[in-house]
Amino acid sequence: MNVVPPPIKTDPEQPSQSMYADHVTVYPKSVDGPVRRVKWAILFVCLSIYYLLPWLRWSRGEGKPSQAVLLDIVHRRFYMFGAEFWPQDIYLLTGLLILSAVSLFLVTSMFGRVWCGYACPQTAWTDLFMLVERWVEGDRNARIKLDHAPLSLNKLARKSAKHLIWFGIAFWTGGAWIMYYIDAPTLVREFWTGQSSAGVYGFIGLFTATTYVLAGWSREQVCTYMCPWPRFQASMLDEQSLIVTYQDQRGEPRSVGKRHDGNTHLGDCVDCGVCVAVCPTGIDIRDGIQLECINCGLCVDGCNSVMKKLGLPPGLVGWDTLADQKLRKQGKPREVPHYLRPRTMIYMAALGVAMAAMVVGFFSRPTLAVEAQHDRAPLFVMTRDGGIRNAYTLKLTNRLATANFDLSIQGLGNADLTVAESGVAEAPVLHVVGPGDDVVAYRVLVHVTTPALENGSHKFNFVLKNLQTGKIATYQSVFLGPGIAN
Ligand code: SF4
Ligand code: SF4
Repeated sequence: MNVVPPPIKTDPEQPSQSMYADHVTVYPKSVDGPVRRVKWAILFVCLSIYYLLPWLRWSRGEGKPSQAVLLDIVHRRFYMFGAEFWPQDIYLLTGLLILSAVSLFLVTSMFGRVWCGYACPQTAWTDLFMLVERWVEGDRNARIKLDHAPLSLNKLARKSAKHLIWFGIAFWTGGAWIMYYIDAPTLVREFWTGQSSAGVYGFIGLFTATTYVLAGWSREQVCTYMCPWPRFQASMLDEQSLIVTYQDQRGEPRSVGKRHDGNTHLGDCVDCGVCVAVCPTGIDIRDGIQLECINCGLCVDGCNSVMKKLGLPPGLVGWDTLADQKLRKQGKPREVPHYLRPRTMIYMAALGVAMAAMVVGFFSRPTLAVEAQHDRAPLFVMTRDGGIRNAYTLKLTNRLATANFDLSIQGLGNADLTVAESGVAEAPVLHVVGPGDDVVAYRVLVHVTTPALENGSHKFNFVLKNLQTGKIATYQSVFLGPGIAN
């Protein structure tokens, strides 16, 4: 039986409430102080590395790219200074991702969202775009005034200049990203002479557009609505994590310009609103821990400058742990933050294991490998002499210099080998060349005249020996004959 739910009662007196709030533009005010200077320094270092790294050259010898950091998709290589990674090294990338994730967990559990506030690309480019905005349109009040002013030549000129510079930065950013995939000088030359592929123009356009929109227009909304990190970072924070907080026991009740009138019941916060005005996400730190807070600490600089003017000690807004806040409210002295606690020790242990695994994995990468794939059809061929022949596609991976190799069979009686359609006579040992720093494929025929096959199949090993270094690589395969189970 279908049950019809009762109609939802609405109060005709009450206006209906929207599920969505209107976007409120944030006009962050410039601020100076130690935190801001540290942020500028980190921004400068991070962006310099990003823009300049593709131009750094690295000599690798004839026929190799000379870019220090390059992800060469066409040749399936990743070059990073003296190291060269192959697709087979993908596990190292997995290790690197695990390492980054655990490092982020550890740093967040100790110092809150410092990644978000200082090193996240969204924060860095938004900061850069805001710097341009401030430079062209002025500080907070001037920008608010300009936005609310009717269209004029001055407004048009300033807005156009700002967007033009933003677009230039976004274009440079998108182009720099592609330089990590294509040799930088070659890309620049081909781009401006119209020789780049449509894909290159398309990707540069895409990254230019995303940088322009995310850093110029979306800004704090990316952190608040799009980024998943704020949602689950709460699980990494605890009472001992260092976060930006407001000392409400010291600041409340707020005194609006009444601080010096002898009223001792008033707190140190003069409700000047500087901490809100300088906040890039437009929140009020005095409302407590909020998802929007990226822990950038600009409100610390803002409030400390106010405290200095009032002749009061700094730190009304500052870094603190929730445990310390509790102690202060009880009138007890602060504790030294407990950096070593079960949570951080687990993260440190995981970090240590991941790093050790990465180092071992990196230095034990094989320089020689052989793989063989049996032909799917036919599985075997009966030869005139009563023997059996199987065919394999053999892949020889040689990370060192070009060398001669001996290929032989182990565990298959008297087997002879040759390369299909090469005209080379069958022999127990096949001589092949392995080009340096490359993977080469040979179609190898294995011929056995006196096979001893159980159930029509027999396991054996291909043995590949570098004649210069003596290094050996093996690969287990199977030889098939009549009687093989279907
Ligand atoms: S409240 Fe303070 S620390 Fe948090 S985002 Fe705003 S300025 Fe940065
Ligand atoms: S800057 Fe400091 S004094 Fe001014 S409103 Fe914020 S907390 Fe209060």
